[in-house]
Amino acid sequence: FSLIQRVTGFVSGLVCVLHDITEQQKNEREQQQFVSNVSHELRTPLTSMRAYVEALNDGAWKDPNIAPQFLGVVQEETERMIRMINDLLSLSRMDRGVAKMDLEWVNINDFVNHVLNRFDMMLKKDAEKSDNSVKKYTIKREITKQALWVEIDTDKMMQVIDNIMNNAIKYSPDGGVITVRLLQAHKHIILSISDQGLGIPRKDLNKIFDRFYRVDKARSRKQGGTGLGLAISKEIVEAHNGRIWADSAEGEGSTFYISLPFEPISEEGASWDEI
Ligand code: ADP
Repeated sequence: FSLIQRVTGFVSGLVCVLHDITEQQKNEREQQQFVSNVSHELRTPLTSMRAYVEALNDGAWKDPNIAPQFLGVVQEETERMIRMINDLLSLSRMDRGVAKMDLEWVNINDFVNHVLNRFDMMLKKDAEKSDNSVKKYTIKREITKQALWVEIDTDKMMQVIDNIMNNAIKYSPDGGVITVRLLQAHKHIILSISDQGLGIPRKDLNKIFDRFYRVDKARSRKQGGTGLGLAISKEIVEAHNGRIWADSAEGEGSTFYISLPFEPISEEGASWDEI
């Protein structure tokens, strides 16, 4: 019996070691894949910039009809690369666990309204400029009247809502309605942002939160996307012990949901735990 026990002990020990190695190999493979993705993502804008700079150098700089356009492309690509590097740096800070969470209690109703007011303000400014190239959209708010107090890092959560709102605008045709809802569901608050845009194929719904995953690479790039916005949003929401997910009907629109832990407060203003 003891022999069997010893053998069993040995075998289960071995299984454990094998498991560790597999985990380590998986991490290494992911790491290599990530480095390869970053390199490809940076090579594309660099190659395109090189082509434009070469053309300028070959004489295009003298042509007032094309030089400003070529320089514009170089500038856009540079800005997108800077955005990408900044996104990579914030992901790396979160991966290493050194991204400090600056938590404070906020009335999330006011906070969401504040973030959306900025979008309304931008719309107003764009309308004043009567620039036809800027997308027009309408924001519809369905925010519960009940004041919900949640502990969040306001800068980081603002980045999440900005990301999702900007995507809703980016991946929607002109004149779309973006509906923002805030409600309480038991021990959570749920914020949802729905658009009437392109939608996302069912098979991609989970993958869009992966680093660099894009349903349509060319479209994302053309819109100045880095493919990292949702990956960062997921890290931030999870650092708040929350969840983020998406639902969509292709061609009809998408809805992004964020749920955050919420402690219901009694009438007297004290939490149930304190009573
Ligand atoms: P990107 O910089 O490409 O927008 P994100 O991480 O923000 O990167 O989004 C990843 C991908 O998810 C996008 O490229 C797009 O394919 C898809 N996506 C995100 N939001 C929406 C949306 N509201 N409607 C349709 N597709 C979306």
